[in-house]
Amino acid sequence: MACVSYPYEAPVSQSLYDRAAVVTPGGVNSPVRAFHAVGGTPRFMVSGTGPYLTDADGREYVDLVCSWGPMILGHAHPAVTEAVQAAVARGTSFGTPGQGEVELAEEIVARVAPVDQVRLVSSGTEATMSAIRLARGFTGRAKVVKFAGCYHGHVDALLAAAGSGVATFGLPDTPGVTGAQAGDTLVLPYNDLEAVAAAFAAHPDEIACVITEASPGNMGVVPPREGFNAGLKELCERHGALYISDEVMTGFRVSRAGWYGLDGVVPDLMTFGKVMGGGFPAAAFGGRADVMAHLAPAGPVYQAGTLSGNPIATAAGLAQLRLLDDAAYERLDAVSAEVRSLVTEALAKEGVAHRLQRAGNMFSVFFTDEDVVDYAAARRQESFRFTAFFHEMLSRGVYLPPSAFEAWFVSTALDERAVERIADALPHAARAAA
Ligand code: PLP
Repeated sequence: MACVSYPYEAPVSQSLYDRAAVVTPGGVNSPVRAFHAVGGTPRFMVSGTGPYLTDADGREYVDLVCSWGPMILGHAHPAVTEAVQAAVARGTSFGTPGQGEVELAEEIVARVAPVDQVRLVSSGTEATMSAIRLARGFTGRAKVVKFAGCYHGHVDALLAAAGSGVATFGLPDTPGVTGAQAGDTLVLPYNDLEAVAAAFAAHPDEIACVITEASPGNMGVVPPREGFNAGLKELCERHGALYISDEVMTGFRVSRAGWYGLDGVVPDLMTFGKVMGGGFPAAAFGGRADVMAHLAPAGPVYQAGTLSGNPIATAAGLAQLRLLDDAAYERLDAVSAEVRSLVTEALAKEGVAHRLQRAGNMFSVFFTDEDVVDYAAARRQESFRFTAFFHEMLSRGVYLPPSAFEAWFVSTALDERAVERIADALPHAARAAA
């Protein structure tokens, strides 16, 4: 295929960005979409097909962001589009229970063994917020343990040393979260079981739950050390706290049953989002039946949502999940391995120090010569190299997450032509990063 080479400037995106900046803070509706960390004009996308996105300047990109995870089958997959169109024609929201909600819940429960029951919500943030409230209600305790570099959405209590945009922008925490809201949050270094044991010892009978990304992707990809998740589970059990595994990113992405399908550690509660919505706002939290029984209306812990279980979102999510069979995960693993080896080969050829870290088919590159096991190590990388790498990939028609602290996502739609474009772009990007 012909190599592409786009100019640095993107005039139509820039003019949209200028207009957006007048009516929207920072010109974006979610911070990392702005190219603040890497500079330049954020691309305003107008359409997506299969592995490609097309921007307002008419340029086509191979998409390795996949809407930050959800678009695991690529864009505008015919089966998902058809299911959505059929659902829209039946009406867009009823505010009553519906068949799609039952089927989506059944699909999740069938896939993820530790989930006896699940409640649908509209975003990953709602899922983690609700899971924490439920854990506090169930245990009658206030404190929450989270790990530095893990991101669980913009829940007040969890915006302490958070990953994703908070890491991208180098924020220790965020104004607007009061001491009272964050005061019951204990932030510990990731992959450090001793720190967790010490926290339980220092706060006996006070910790309601430990929440962790099943395998973190929001400080870049930093998988749990062997035995870390099992150790968390064991400590939680010993001290009467709940173990919450946040699978918003990994759920239904890295295997049929998400990260649980790979490590088998049984959480008390789990949270899901992204892939399960098929590109629409659908998310969920679920787990042990005796814990979930504490939710309203049967139990005392309140949680609700006008658009929870929305018929369009459930139709899209179901259509997508039903296509995610063993063959789809094999395809994702294979294409991820192919792209990873192209990346390491290109960087090694230029002598660029890096670590390519992965969790199943998710991965990211750290520009560093140390294994990245926690947030402190992630932040020691030379992210200026990523900036050069990113822009070279962009100008050659490959769209990466615009931050060195985010996971890269593949889709089943990544075909030979798309991989070839990535392969063509990489030597240039590696040279720029050197
Ligand atoms: N939890 C994890 C692990 C995430 O990666 C995210 C989003 O990136 C969230 C929670 C929040 O999800 P949402 O952006 O849908 O609110």
